Amino acid sequence: MDMSVSPSFALARLRAGHHRFRVGAAPAPTGPVGAPVAAILSCADPQPEASIVFGGVDVFAVRAAGLRVGPAVLGSLEYAVGHLGVPLVVVLGHTACSLPHGSGPERIRATVDALRRHSPLLDQTARSGRCVLHGMLWHDAGRTLGEIRPVVAVPAARRTGRRRPPNRAEVRTT
Ligand SMILES: [Zn+2]
Repeated sequence: MDMSVSPSFALARLRAGHHRFRVGAAPAPTGPVGAPVAAILSCADPQPEASIVFGGVDVFAVRAAGLRVGPAVLGSLEYAVGHLGVPLVVVLGHTACSLPHGSGPERIRATVDALRRHSPLLDQTARSGRCVLHGMLWHDAGRTLGEIRPVVAVPAARRTGRRRPPNRAEVRTT
């Protein structure tokens, strides 16, 4: 467990790993066993494993059909954040989802909201800034990755009397 990794550093590791994936570079050398830099919740539909998409970066992978937040998903993510100390949870949807509600941008944002609503631990660590909940979208056909910004990313945005910015733009990293 490495508590010293910041959320922004973890995100940078993932982006660099995805760049290696895009250019076909060799995977990153693995770090110490049991020290994932991020937890990734992705759909159970066929698609590359998160460790592949992120260029060999050591991730704590959780998969659930349509990103459905149930007890198993909550328990796994709480273990990653509370026990392993990961500073980043990425909800990774994809465009070619077979589930009725899909796992596109709206589903990703709803999943981030659900994680905070159903888990005091995840909500508390997100409020404190120790762990960031982030969204990403895998474009199955193009094999590229876009970023989906959750509506609330930092505790400062929860100030009373201040409206949340819409911030609906999807920004491609590649
Ligand atoms: Zn799916």
